[in-house]
Amino acid sequence: MIETQAEPEHIAISKSKGIQIDWKDGHHSEYSLGYLRDECPCAVCTGAHGTEPEKTNYSAPAPSNPFQLYKPTLKMLNVEAVGHYAIGIDWSDGHSSGIYSFDHLRKICRCAQCKA
Ligand SMILES: [Zn+2]
Ligand SMILES: [Zn+2]
Repeated sequence: MIETQAEPEHIAISKSKGIQIDWKDGHHSEYSLGYLRDECPCAVCTGAHGTEPEKTNYSAPAPSNPFQLYKPTLKMLNVEAVGHYAIGIDWSDGHSSGIYSFDHLRKICRCAQCKA
């Protein structure tokens, strides 16, 4: 028996807004697009291969620098199940190597209860 594994009961996906998950234990999580992209668990974004992490900051407020290039609106192009334990997200910025395991998603839940 695996007690710690996070299991979703229902996943609601909006490609322009984000993902909401109702967990089997009754917990509810909401993830905005920018937040999910910033929390991409792949080796490139986290620097798992000993390289510099290429962290994005989509969830950060827009910079006030007028010379900053306009940041295109982030969207999910495609979301698909990866086995029974994860989802893979294809981002509009060309990134698609992130596999979001349900354990990871549960860990990065931002609700008041999880942040406490
Ligand atoms: Zn990534
Ligand atoms: Zn939570």
